[in-house]
Amino acid sequence: MQHHDICILGAGPGGASAALHLANKGIPSVLIDKAVFPRDKVCGDALSGKVVSELKRICPDLPAVLSQQESQLPSWGIHFVSPAGYKLSVPFKYNYNPEQDVPSGYISKRVDFDNFLVEEAKKRPEITLLEGIDVASVEKAEGGYLLTDKSGSLQLTTRLLIAANGAHSSFARQQAGIKQEPEHYCAGLRAYYKGVQGLDKDNFIELHFLKDFLPGYFWIFPLPGGYANVGVGMLSETVSQKKVNLKKEMLRIIATHPEFQQRFAGAELVGDIKGYGLPLGSRKRVISGDNYMLVGDAASLIDPFTGEGISNAMISGRWAATQAELCLQQQDFSADFIQGYDKAVYNRLWKELKLSRRMQRLLNYPWLFNQVASKASKNQALAETISCMFTDLDLRERLKQPSFYLRLLFN
Ligand SMILES: Cc1cc2nc3c(=O)[nH]c(=O)nc-3n(C[C@H](O)[C@H](O)[C@H](O)COP(=O)(O)OP(=O)(O)OC[C@H]3O[C@@H](n4cnc5c(N)ncnc54)[C@H](O)[C@@H]3O)c2cc1C
Repeated sequence: MQHHDICILGAGPGGASAALHLANKGIPSVLIDKAVFPRDKVCGDALSGKVVSELKRICPDLPAVLSQQESQLPSWGIHFVSPAGYKLSVPFKYNYNPEQDVPSGYISKRVDFDNFLVEEAKKRPEITLLEGIDVASVEKAEGGYLLTDKSGSLQLTTRLLIAANGAHSSFARQQAGIKQEPEHYCAGLRAYYKGVQGLDKDNFIELHFLKDFLPGYFWIFPLPGGYANVGVGMLSETVSQKKVNLKKEMLRIIATHPEFQQRFAGAELVGDIKGYGLPLGSRKRVISGDNYMLVGDAASLIDPFTGEGISNAMISGRWAATQAELCLQQQDFSADFIQGYDKAVYNRLWKELKLSRRMQRLLNYPWLFNQVASKASKNQALAETISCMFTDLDLRERLKQPSFYLRLLFN
């Protein structure tokens, strides 16, 4: 039987960030994962500017170290393609210069990015990393939790559990009462292709909202070595209501859509098409309790419009470390005290999650989406405003004001 004051379950970006921030504070923790790294994770592999900021908070040199990895590709923006085919190109940074500027985003297969973070964790003496340990049961015990692995050979008690074990976390479901709600959950598929034509020269990622696949989206994200991450996402509610077979739909789009038919003509599917869930942060939940906090996907924090979850997992991991330090200082692991964690996480994320929820609903009005994209594709000033909206939340607020659309439509 081992005892650790702080146990982090799951060494993805959320759990690894929590462990690294604790280590920065000189606080020991045990970090457990069922996988042995490097391990794959079904994802679009896009790392936003928020991920870069979080890396900087762990260690100011980390973004530069990441940019030296051969496994990553710097990305300078997003192409949104509306249902009528209007392309709205949004650079992450206005007037960027790829030769001189530090990139605001990257694309890196998760097998590499997650291993990059775990390698950092391995360097810290404060972190005890246990890989290849599949935790099969987590039970409430006197003053904390008792964790037992599948083989029964490892038993561990902890005063504070940081559950960062992803979208399928049974702890989140069974002990923390987080329900999987189809209107706040997305189903996603990812495939790796080699040789897709027409990728952006500055590695803009592509999000296509196709009229026969709404309210879902199809993406193509360029990767190093001539690869691309290709996938689809759709709200689980719609998948079950319309009985959508996502894999069939994705292959249909590639084989029959006039643009993709051409672009994929010489492309080769590498490996299997894999699926996984995206628990969306479109609803506030209670994400802590006596002796525990939920982090990342276990806490359902994925952006409902963009599907971005890596940065929010890292942000919640950082706040979990801050709260854990307070718990140790005050020797208070009660739900009342730990609630400070929920407040900190939603204080940082709720405004943008709420806004993204509204933007997600815009997909129910394809004509409005078409109008915005059509106007912006012809109007440089509007394109600039929308570009700035991605980094400036106050500007983004305008997207929820009806007057923004009225001015746009009648100007
Ligand atoms: C199809 C798809 C596309 C996506 N695209 C993007 C994107 O492009 N950009 C983006 O930012 N986000 C994207 N996301 C979301 C992103 O993948 C997640 O938000 C992110 O991985 C959350 O990190 P996490 O640390 O919370 O969980 P995870 O990364 O899932 O890590 C959880 C860890 O817990 C471990 N674990 C699980 N159960 C146990 C157990 N019983 N015992 C021990 N260990 C356990 C797992 O092995 C894993 O390592 C996408 C998701 C999907 C499904």
